[in-house]
Amino acid sequence: MATPAKLGFIGLGAMGFPMASNLISKSAKGSQLFIYDVSEASMSRFAEKHPNSTVVCKSPAEVSSSADILFTMLPEGAHVKSVYLDPATGVLHDGMAAKILVDCSTIDVDTSLLVLDAVRQSKSHSGVSFFDAPVSGGTLGAEKGSITIMLGIAEQHDPVYPVLLPLLQLMGKHIVPCGKPGMGLTAKLCNNYCSGLIALATAEAMNIGIRSGMDPRLLARVFSSSTAQSTICDTWNPVPGVVPAAPSSHGYQGGFKVQLMAKDFGLAMQAAAKAEATTLLGPAGLDAYRKAAQDPNCYDRDSRVVFRYIGGDEKWQEKL
Ligand code: NAD
Repeated sequence: MATPAKLGFIGLGAMGFPMASNLISKSAKGSQLFIYDVSEASMSRFAEKHPNSTVVCKSPAEVSSSADILFTMLPEGAHVKSVYLDPATGVLHDGMAAKILVDCSTIDVDTSLLVLDAVRQSKSHSGVSFFDAPVSGGTLGAEKGSITIMLGIAEQHDPVYPVLLPLLQLMGKHIVPCGKPGMGLTAKLCNNYCSGLIALATAEAMNIGIRSGMDPRLLARVFSSSTAQSTICDTWNPVPGVVPAAPSSHGYQGGFKVQLMAKDFGLAMQAAAKAEATTLLGPAGLDAYRKAAQDPNCYDRDSRVVFRYIGGDEKWQEKL
């Protein structure tokens, strides 16, 4: 039987809450989860759900004083920096017990490497590891424990990997070691750059078809067995009524919010600039997602709402 663990989780939002919930409910009996969030309401809700295993903390430092392994799931780089490095309340401090620190937030690679550097520089924290481990699969995937986790680790060489893997498997289905620090984030940003552009291209192509008099369900079937096939077309189709279970068929509720896509797309463009990679489609994509994220008809909705943003006909069925 597995040994009870002392775990920590900071950031109990849309993703962090269900991830932490899976982590503690699937951990060995007697395990404890030390939690912190700036939102007291989120912490109370979590403690109510897991009353026997949750310890509510007053700061990130308090979590890292007690937990052996801790996870963070925060909105942006600035939050990650302050949660780890704040001299008064941060995770890194002299009384730190935690030996493995895992940041699952989607942030810029530079901030992640800066935190890694601070961990490595600190003499009092020798033997402590820090990893980037962004995730894909959305809130539904986080609830089901089926997310993909892209881990900035060298699978073959890092002795921490065998320790970390079973814990990550409590939260995710596909754990992909991406080679070295920062590469988990690089993989995540490249993925979202690509899937954001596929969504935009699918929305535009289907809009052309609808305006030319074609039933978009038929067009999606053609795409599915032709070269325009994609998961976006088959599962997350941007046109309402084509895929009944897709967010687009439910007022674009659920899914991956357009403002998060705008954030990730911006981070991917920064990564492209740093790597001097040509991005012919990038500027148009970034502009579309940023503007859609500011449009009250699109804000807070699934990012495939770009079909609405480009003026796609959502009432196509009435005209058949
Ligand atoms: P969220 O805003 O719902 O949750 C963030 C949580 O962090 C909130 O509970 C907030 O109170 C807390 N927080 C903020 N600052 C804090 C601080 N200084 N200390 C402690 N807690 C703090 O965001 P989310 O949707 O859970 O996303 C988190 C990260 O995961 C983001 O980087 C996002 O891009 C990424 N992500 C989100 C999705 C998704 O579908 N929502 C999917 C994949 C990846």
